Amino acid sequence: MRGKITDILFDESQINSRVAELGAEINADYAGRDIFGVCLLKGSIIFCADLVRHIKVPIRVDVMRASSYGSNTESSGSVKILQDLDIDIAGKDVLIIEDIVDTGRTLHKTLELLTVRHPNSLKVCTLLDKPSRRVEEIDIAYRGFSIPDKFVVGYGLDFDEYYRNLPYISVLDPNG
Ligand code: 5GP
Ligand code: MG
Ligand code: MG
Repeated sequence: MRGKITDILFDESQINSRVAELGAEINADYAGRDIFGVCLLKGSIIFCADLVRHIKVPIRVDVMRASSYGSNTESSGSVKILQDLDIDIAGKDVLIIEDIVDTGRTLHKTLELLTVRHPNSLKVCTLLDKPSRRVEEIDIAYRGFSIPDKFVVGYGLDFDEYYRNLPYISVLDPNG
């Protein structure tokens, strides 16, 4: 069961120009500093790869994988780190690069886990935001697009691991 692709929300060129704008904002805010980018696997791989190519200040990138157990389309409150960072973030200006903030549970827990490691700063950059679904409040410094309460795939986001390869972001009907 791979569901059915319905409406395209953002095509390739809309995504490209928004990602470039986010990069420009980040460059301005972090001028004179180094960024420690944290790519949250796996959904953020495509976004992170595109975003970092717009970053002009020195940046290092590490990956982390946190899993939130739940159904295919909704996360739960219990978050486990499946793969941790290689590098200590103490004193660093950490920028979390996330695909989508939905309930906010996964990111809330991840931020808690990283805060106790005493970064100099900790900010969130997410491509997509589904504010209507929020359970945990999240301070989002950089947001690509706000979207309605629809399950989306493409540009890194999956349904049962499929569709990450789509160059656009589309609504998916899981029962279609
Ligand atoms: P949250 O904990 O904020 O509810 O969701 C965390 C994770 O659930 C996201 O990082 C993403 O991997 C997944 N997720 C939430 N909403 C969607 C969606 O609309 N489409 C896809 N493919 N994944 C989603
Ligand atoms: Mg994610
Ligand atoms: Mg997923």
